[in-house]
Amino acid sequence: MSTVAGITPGGTASANLKTAHEASVFGEAIDYFNEAAANLDLDPNIKRILTHPSRQVIISIPFQRDNGDLDVYTGYRVQYSFARGPAKGGIRYHPGVTLDEVTALAFWMTWKCAVVDLPFGGGKGGVTCDPRVLSDHELERLTRRYAAEIIEIIGPDKDVPAPDIGTNAQTMAWVMDTVSMHMRSHTPGVVTGKPLCIGGSRGRVEATGRGLTIAIQAALEKMGKTLARQRVAVQGFGNVGSVSAKLLAQQGAIIVGVSDQFGGIYDKRGIDVEAAMAYVTAATNEKRTLEGFSGAERITNEELLELPCDILVPAAIEDQLTVENAGRVKAHIIAEGANGPTTPGADGLFSQAGVTIIPDILANAGGVTVSYFEWAQDRMGYYWRESLVNERLEEVLRENFDAVWSLAQQRSVTLRTAAYMLAIRRVVDSLLTRGIYA
Ligand code: GLU
Repeated sequence: MSTVAGITPGGTASANLKTAHEASVFGEAIDYFNEAAANLDLDPNIKRILTHPSRQVIISIPFQRDNGDLDVYTGYRVQYSFARGPAKGGIRYHPGVTLDEVTALAFWMTWKCAVVDLPFGGGKGGVTCDPRVLSDHELERLTRRYAAEIIEIIGPDKDVPAPDIGTNAQTMAWVMDTVSMHMRSHTPGVVTGKPLCIGGSRGRVEATGRGLTIAIQAALEKMGKTLARQRVAVQGFGNVGSVSAKLLAQQGAIIVGVSDQFGGIYDKRGIDVEAAMAYVTAATNEKRTLEGFSGAERITNEELLELPCDILVPAAIEDQLTVENAGRVKAHIIAEGANGPTTPGADGLFSQAGVTIIPDILANAGGVTVSYFEWAQDRMGYYWRESLVNERLEEVLRENFDAVWSLAQQRSVTLRTAAYMLAIRRVVDSLLTRGIYA
């Protein structure tokens, strides 16, 4: 295990990462932070601390392929902040995973947890791999070795991983089992997003989509509108995109388009989302895609983002809405289901054009909120009914959505800047109350 503490000394993290990468996701994330920090008059010393990750770990993961060969993949765990509690955030399995991306994602988790007032810091992990081409046995071996490599730095009071793109409840079960075996101690609270039978929480699978639906409803209410007949386009048909589309349709919205990484489908009269979900689940090939779903027009992912609609939900990956395509987006509300789907340049254009963006750290915080409930349930050994989970989720999101909305109004800033401001204030409060061990 090789640990890189912080980034190269003598400069800001974003500056260093920007020289190392053509376009740094972490650098873009820092741009958002800087805008909020300027509105808060943040002390430069505090700003320096908050723009550096606490710990970045890079590991090599040897694992055996089904044909007997040994492969070595690269994995990461970044613990961005512990100011408010144990680090918290998912593990991503994707071919595009880099240290820069994982750092940005851990950075966002810090503000996401703070904006909904959870007692967590921020973290994220990842392995550069394509899980679609690995068998279940290969995924299990890869996951167990990854978990074993980071075992000293994760735990219910240290850092609590969860699913993200390319991982799921089964992945978390393998992590939990590996840690419990090595520690000789049943440790369900080391990860969240687990299957129910080993200490998962009811409502966790749907939580991010449910949270996104609540955030959209809350925004519409502020505008004196409801979801009924709102035309929605959703990019991404994984856990976040598909559940959001389903719940939004149940609330009366018309889902005019959905897409996955291979392309999308469009029907201005509305797509039968549950049929599309059943179609994808039933697909037996490794692609598990919407391709071939009948009764809707086939479109590209680029076209999906530019569809005539009222609400756009980018729920795939980073950097989808850019200065290049922002001018062609027709939606007047963008609810960020993904982390970092809008580049800072595009964000500025949307704000000038009067488009309301419900920022990722608030819009997709439902997942980690129910992860918090799961962690609390594991520690209590007492499990809640689903209606209680959903009720508490709604309470947390609405309360903090209102706080962000009011701050945005008071200070005439975007919802994104207000969300960062609220989150930064909370993190700084914890940091200063603890005192800086320097
Ligand atoms: N991966 C999810 C996110 O980006 C969930 C993280 C968690 O539950 O810890 O918010």
